[in-house]
Amino acid sequence: MTRSIEIVEVGPRDGLQSEPGVMPTATKIEFVERLVAAGIKRLEVTSFVNPKKVPQMADAEQVLAGLKKRSDVWYVGLVLNQKGFDRAVAAGCNEIGMAVVASETFNRRNQGVGTDDSIAAWLEIAKAAHAAGVRPQVTVSAAFGCPFEGEIAVERVVEIARRVAEGNPHEIAFADTIGVGVPSQVSELIGRARAALPGMRLRAHFHNTRNTGLANAYAAVEAGVSALDSSAGGIGGCPFAPAATGNIPTEDLVYMLERMGVRTGVNLDALIATGEWLQGTLGRPIPSMLLKAGSFPKPATQAA
Ligand code: ZN
Repeated sequence: MTRSIEIVEVGPRDGLQSEPGVMPTATKIEFVERLVAAGIKRLEVTSFVNPKKVPQMADAEQVLAGLKKRSDVWYVGLVLNQKGFDRAVAAGCNEIGMAVVASETFNRRNQGVGTDDSIAAWLEIAKAAHAAGVRPQVTVSAAFGCPFEGEIAVERVVEIARRVAEGNPHEIAFADTIGVGVPSQVSELIGRARAALPGMRLRAHFHNTRNTGLANAYAAVEAGVSALDSSAGGIGGCPFAPAATGNIPTEDLVYMLERMGVRTGVNLDALIATGEWLQGTLGRPIPSMLLKAGSFPKPATQAA
């Protein structure tokens, strides 16, 4: 396999929003800058949502204001409605991500409206984003199962993808928000979505809740996604998804892909150093296996 996969780092948003404490703004900025220095070119840096619901993201504007703007880095702000979109654009995000939940019940719990209303809101936001010169992309959440409704039919997920595609997104992502998916499901959904939406860039977002995250990532690469989400150290969850635990760890994902000959553009040693820094900052062990085991062994003594 000789190809490349774009890594979208979601630790500063998906990771930190499920932390019990609130990371200081300056530390968040350092977190993002360390990741950019490691070669990550696209990061979900914060979300522009109700600070009463997600106090960990209440400093969204300050985080953006503290980041060095670079023409080669995409700072993604997550938004759920027009108000969030306006905040993200004013704050200087050059890409916005919106989520539409494949489960009606979950969408109402998470966003306060039904799935159809969220799709309509996405289409309006996508239009506004194109007009504002901000890159829009959209995620179909709970695409592999829902904590309230259980199974989600793959036909429903693909139909939602077809509808959100009308907003001309940069890319459509499928998220296993609660970490229930298995690789055969990933192959089927990505395969069907590629058939339904030829030429559309696809991305996948996995949580390692049931230890299937990296296997799902492999299946997604085989099925033809362009990008994968992951979080440094494997931190993260979702405050609206009961018992959802961390994203797949960026270190572990980059290790697997690079050893397979799939290029990521990320410096693994710098990433591991960032994970160690993060672990120290949070003051507790974090899930990444690379942080425990280290990278591929280097010979103890170099031959002269
Ligand atoms: Zn997530």
